[in-house]
This record gives sequence, C-alpha cells and structure tokens, in this order.
Amino acid sequence: MANHNIYHLFRQRFADESAFICTGQGEVQYTYGDLERLSAEIARQLASMGINPGDRVIVQVEKSAMSLMVYFGCLRAGFVYLPLNTAYQRHEIEYFVTDAEPALVICDPANEELYQKLTRCPVLTLDGEGRGSLQPIPESYTADTVAGDIVTNDADDIAVILYTSGTTGQPKGAMISHGNLAANGLTLHEAWRWQPGDILLHALPIFHIHGLFVATHLAVLNSSPMLFLNRFDPAAVIAALPNATVYMGVPTNYTRLLANSSFDKQVCRNMRLFTSGSAPLLVQTFKEFEARTGHCIVERYGMTETGMNTSNPVDGQRKPGTVGPPLPGVEARIVDSSNHQVPVLETGDLLIRGANVFKGYWRKPGKTAQEFDPDGFFRTGDLALVDEDGYISLVGRNKDLIISGGLNVYPKEIESVIDQIPGVMESAVIGIPDTDFGEAVTAVVVQDQDASLDEAIIISHLKTTLANFKVAKHVFFVTELPRNTMGKVQKNVLRDQFSQHA
Ligand code: AMP
Repeated sequence: MANHNIYHLFRQRFADESAFICTGQGEVQYTYGDLERLSAEIARQLASMGINPGDRVIVQVEKSAMSLMVYFGCLRAGFVYLPLNTAYQRHEIEYFVTDAEPALVICDPANEELYQKLTRCPVLTLDGEGRGSLQPIPESYTADTVAGDIVTNDADDIAVILYTSGTTGQPKGAMISHGNLAANGLTLHEAWRWQPGDILLHALPIFHIHGLFVATHLAVLNSSPMLFLNRFDPAAVIAALPNATVYMGVPTNYTRLLANSSFDKQVCRNMRLFTSGSAPLLVQTFKEFEARTGHCIVERYGMTETGMNTSNPVDGQRKPGTVGPPLPGVEARIVDSSNHQVPVLETGDLLIRGANVFKGYWRKPGKTAQEFDPDGFFRTGDLALVDEDGYISLVGRNKDLIISGGLNVYPKEIESVIDQIPGVMESAVIGIPDTDFGEAVTAVVVQDQDASLDEAIIISHLKTTLANFKVAKHVFFVTELPRNTMGKVQKNVLRDQFSQHA
C-alpha cells in the first residue's frame, strides 16, 4: 500500500545533508539529516509515553528550530499535530483541551502548571531555546532505519488540526489530512516555480497555515535552506534578506518594511519572490513596494480549511487588488443566495472544491455538512468577484471576522468579555481600516447611566483576559447601538461612523 504520510513525501525530497535550517542569525544550524534524526527521536519519545497514531498532541510553544522538529516528529509518527497560538490564555486553552482531548501536551515551561490543572494527559515542556522535559530518545541507526520509522497513512487520515472560528465565537478544529497537505504543497511548489538555489526567509508564526504549511512545506519540498527567524522584526528581516531568494509575509510585514528607510533595492538584490496573504494587500502597498524594490508582490488567497486557493502568477501578470486565478486543481465558484453562479464582475459567495479542501470540523459533523454545498463545494464565507481574465478579487467577508495583523479576531468573543465589565450595558466590536494592522480591533460601548468608564479601563481589562492581538486598539462610547428592524446591531453603520475617527 502506498504511504500517503506527508513526511514520506518530504523524505523523498531531502537532497542531502547540505541544506539547513537555522534560527536567529545563523547561530544554530541543522541539516535535513538532523531534521530526519531529531524528528525520529522525538517521535520515539512520544511513542514511548503511549501516544498512538491518531492521538492529538497539543503544542503551544515559542517558535524555534526544535518546535519544527516536534512538528515533523508528530507527522512521521501519525500523531495529529495541534498547534496553538502562544498568545492564548487560560480560558481559551481550557476550551481547546476540552474539545480536542489531547493524549499529550507540549507547552512552554511557564504554562506547565496550568496545563496540568486543565488536563489529565502528560505534559512535556519546551522553551524557545529548545530546553525542557522534551527529551528526544536517541538510538543508533542508519538513514534507512530512520526513514523506515514513518507510519503508513491513508491520504484521508488527519495530519493536523488547526482551530479556526465562527462569529458565534466557538472555535472549530479544522481537520487537515495528509492528502490535503501533499496536494496543496505540490501545487504551490510548481506554481511559484521553486528551483534549485532557493532560500526561504521564514519570519511567520508556525501555529497558522501560512507559516506552518505554505512557508515551511515549500522549503522542505525543495530541500531548501530556511533562515528561520523566531519572529517578525523589520531590522532582522532586512539584515537577512540579502541571503534569501523567497520571502512570504502578511501585508503588515510589508508596510513595516516600507516604513524602514534602509529597506531598498540593494537589500532585495538576490530576491526572486515575495508573496503576501492572510489579509488584503492594499494596492497602495503593492505599488510602493514595486517602486522601492522593483519587485511585484505575488498576492495569494487561502484559509485554514482549504489551504491555498488562488494565486497571482509568477510568470504572468500580477494584478494588484486581486488574489489571482484559482490554482491548478482548485475549482472556484461565485454564487448568489440560490447557489447559482453569478456573472463576471458580480459579487457573490466564494465556494471552493479540490484535493486541498479539508475533511471537516473536529466533532462537528452538523457544522461540516452546513458548510458544503450539494456538489461538494466548501463555502468560504468570503465575498468575491471574478474579472474577464479569471482573476478573483475578495470584496469582504460575509461574517464579521476582523483580521488584524494577519490574525483572525472574532468580535463576539471580545464583546462577551467587555459585557462582563461592571458598568457596561452592551458592546459591539468591529474592525476599522488601519494602515499598519490592516484592520484595528475597535470596541463601541454603551455604559450604564451612573458608570464612568473610559478607554483605559476597557483596554486594561481586555489585556488581562485575552491574547494581545484581540485587545481593542480603540474604544468609543455611545448612548445606544444602531439596530435594524430585526433588532440586529448594524455593524456597517458603526464601521462607517468610526472609520473616520480613529
Ligand atoms: P485563516 O483561516 O486564518 O487563514 O483566514 C482565512 C481568511 O483570511 C480568508 O477566508 C480570507 O477572508 C482572508 N484572506 C486570506 N488571504 C487573503 C487575501 N490575500 N486577501 C484578503 N483576505 C484574505
């Protein structure tokens, strides 16, 4: 039987020991041979603790080369890798451990006690420097025996669960199969013309598809070196860019680079490809970037549930403000509310079908069924239109999701926290355009008549309860929220009203 475990595919692509991954500014270097050995040793340690294929392993650790080894270790052993944003705090973590029922948690030492309280499963630790109770079990072996450790999986077996969410505020675990990862990785490798000599500068978080799948997988499929920075820092990116050929970022990365006067053509002299996604890239940013560096950013579009769906071409015209045509093997349909395809240049709901589309939401068969149409197309929740050349533009989201700095923020979750502050009557959370973050989380609050709340009180309360990226950047007070006849808060009215004020 063919082995569809994605690690098996990666293994076939490792060229030799010369390619490496490094963290920081090249202090630690690993060859692909090291990746092979360390991931096998980690898999062995976890298996020795009784973890079996199909078991969920929650990983909430700082980005480091070792955290990447944990990911590959889980893949090769057939464990379901479940990364969590390091910013998540207690009440968020509580939900994930209850829903996912992990067999093992690997977390930062600072969170060990918390996880021990919240779960019954074993908890291992790993800090940003690779230290902790995670102790890979070494064994003497040859390259062949290490490769032989790879568990056999069907294409349909779950490789990773990534939590996404709905505006109802309850996060959903997207089950992503080994087959999904292989299909999307190989498609992008071809579409973006990866070639010998490519070097990836990796500055994205690896708890999200963008940094974990799109960036990491493509470098590995090409057996390319990765310059692995543990976070996005404009100065560090500018210092490393001359040694790279490929950079993948969220729009905020590009505006931050442009804000730095030392970012210029010379810095980008060896670059072949810049890509952008996870949030809209403003036409203005695309043009400024071209003027400054001579490079046109390749904007692409994807989501947790589907991987990458569309991309502007590497060889053809890159149209600013569009996300390009569907990738090979991906079918896109734009439909009206009766599920009929709309004409060119008309806006509708964007649906996607292909080998890249996920299996469904973890333990939510009802929700999964709702999100697919009778022909098996997945409803992305994005509103889009297509032009005469087949290029898709995203017009907005039919849910009220806010994307701030490339990260999803769900208004309902923040509203529920604000509503619990003494003196708050009700609240509405919206995203308003922000040149730096794409959208800034903004709270509109109605307070009780005798209360005397201010912006600082609301923000400091949010800071103690939620991950930083969800904390409101602006707070406005109003005497009542605008509502339609059905009693629903009209967030579009609020957006119009407060976009000018921020
Ligand atoms: P996530 O699941 O976190 O990757 O978020 C997916 C959502 O991000 C999509 O449904 C889109 O709304 C948005 N998104 C991704 N790429 C782009 C893009 N290039 N332009 C605009 N929105 C995007």
